Amino acid sequence: MSREDRDFNLRPEEEQQAFLDQTWCNECMEVDLGMKNPKEYEENGRVFIEGECLKCGSAVVTEIVDGVDEDEEEDVEEF
Ligand SMILES: [Zn+2]
Repeated sequence: MSREDRDFNLRPEEEQQAFLDQTWCNECMEVDLGMKNPKEYEENGRVFIEGECLKCGSAVVTEIVDGVDEDEEEDVEEF
């Protein structure tokens, strides 16, 4: 598994905020609780933002899908 760090701060502020707001927390089982301490990284050609749930502090990970080629595959990743 190759994991490469990227700089989340290079993104436009609006985009950063959107990613920070649009989260899914496995612990709270709720969407959009928000995250803090975001870290962006790329793994196997996919880009993720990892942070901490604002509510419970658990790690939350959001995959960034750039562009329009969203595929429909259900890819549940467990962290
Ligand atoms: Zn949570």
